[in-house]
Amino acid sequence: MRPAARTAAALALTTAAGLWVATSPAAADEADVDRYLDEVAVELAEPGVWVDPDAADAIGSTEAADLDEAAATAPADMRIAVVPAWKLDPEGQDRLVGRELLYEGEELASQLYDRVGVDGIYLVMSVADSSYDGRGIWGVQHSEDGPTYYVGDAIDQAVDCCAPEYGPMIDRFIDRASDVDHPLYRDVAPWAGGAAGIAGLWWGGTTLSARRRRRADEQRHLDVVKPMLTEEVIELSDRVTTLPTTSDIAQAGLTKEILDTVEKARHRLDQAAADDDVQSVTSLLGTARYKIACLEALQQGRPVPEQTAPCFFDPRHGPSTQARQWTPPEGAQREVPVCDQCAARVDAGEAPQARQAGRGSYWEGGEDLVAYIEGYWNGTAGSWRFPHDGHSRARGSLWSRWDSHRPRARLSRMSRSVSRAAGEAMASSGDGSSGSGRSGGWGSGSSSGRSRRRSFGGGSSRRSSRRSGGGRRF
Ligand SMILES: [Zn+2]
Repeated sequence: MRPAARTAAALALTTAAGLWVATSPAAADEADVDRYLDEVAVELAEPGVWVDPDAADAIGSTEAADLDEAAATAPADMRIAVVPAWKLDPEGQDRLVGRELLYEGEELASQLYDRVGVDGIYLVMSVADSSYDGRGIWGVQHSEDGPTYYVGDAIDQAVDCCAPEYGPMIDRFIDRASDVDHPLYRDVAPWAGGAAGIAGLWWGGTTLSARRRRRADEQRHLDVVKPMLTEEVIELSDRVTTLPTTSDIAQAGLTKEILDTVEKARHRLDQAAADDDVQSVTSLLGTARYKIACLEALQQGRPVPEQTAPCFFDPRHGPSTQARQWTPPEGAQREVPVCDQCAARVDAGEAPQARQAGRGSYWEGGEDLVAYIEGYWNGTAGSWRFPHDGHSRARGSLWSRWDSHRPRARLSRMSRSVSRAAGEAMASSGDGSSGSGRSGGWGSGSSSGRSRRRSFGGGSSRRSSRRSGGGRRF
């Protein structure tokens, strides 16, 4: 027998022993798990994410704080516990292999619900090195009334997209579990007063997801553009400190405006978190460069130039002074505004020196560069048409994607399916106990009060209707 095979056989024997141990009575140790779940319930008295300090390695503290806020502001009450698997095992840390949990599957999440006693969505992430060691995710929605959320589907998506990264898994779960599966419930006719409240909840959840997606997009843009802007702000700051002092009132006033504009750009860049900030910064930089051109004209006794588009090849060159024909490698010839130096290069048949972003010229930067270009070409300095189609294509796809994630756009897209669901609900609600397939019913009993408290350890007969749930080891 080869050594590797011998090791595998030994492992199998140990596993069998482990399983046998788990089935033997161990009342005192099971009580430990129950006591622990009582503690977790106290930590989750309010909706949010709670990470056991013994599972702190699983999620960074900043990430945990973000997720906590996302869960706390989700449209449904969401309580999410991130706990070490060994604390759910009656054998605790004594068991070395093949972990067995006292509660597993949806029941684990339902146990937490029993202890907190408030309707809503419950999720438990069991932290371990492998599925064999008890690593898993289980969740459930128990609600007497209100909409049904996609809890089971949210867990599947979380595992499929992100396992075993706990933070991204929870992020995806919150996002998906904020979507309403069945927006209607039995006790209130959908077209009566309650419908407005339900629509409000759904609206809130949709807005949250859209905001999260957009924030992720904007962070990516910032990663690309911020180094470029930092470089440009430093370059301009250096330049304005060398502006000569003057007794001419007009020139002194202009000099002060330039200093203020660059300072504003620097400040805005420091705080930059979104596309709006990027657009403001380039708009201010474009304005500062135009004012420098005006100052130079005054110093040389020339008339102040009118505002023009930035030099197409590199906005750092300042306002354009003329136009030239230019043919991109993959497109038709067009007229582009250029500075004196670039005009001279084009006239001499040399390739223009284009501002670089990533692997190519900045106008090939796609969505990452949309805000950067918009600020220069549609900012306080003026508004001009950017002469490369790549930008308008990227801007179109980015803005329509953000727009399509806004609730209003989704509402119209979904209205057909919602009215179909409503029709089915009305058609099958005659006996008051119609099922909704997977999610196990619209709810039963009274509809008074959205949340109700329960005593600790309430049995399953006292649970509110289970709406949706699921989970697995991973
Ligand atoms: Zn130029």
